[in-house]
Amino acid sequence: MVFGFGKKKKYEFSCSSVGMNCGFEVKNASSEQEVLEILKVHAKTAHGMKEIPSDVAEKIKQNIKKV
Ligand SMILES: [Zn+2]
Repeated sequence: MVFGFGKKKKYEFSCSSVGMNCGFEVKNASSEQEVLEILKVHAKTAHGMKEIPSDVAEKIKQNIKKV
């Protein structure tokens, strides 16, 4: 099986997929880790969360889409 060659998977996530009333979306992240890093900043600035609780982080991971 051949991977890559310009068609690397991208990771996407939208806040609303975990029940947030929020239109924020992460697109074109290159890894799950990158999505979580972006969301850490977003959660802090937009949702006033100092940290993402582990149960929410799990939910986020389950809702990250690979495209
Ligand atoms: Zn949000």
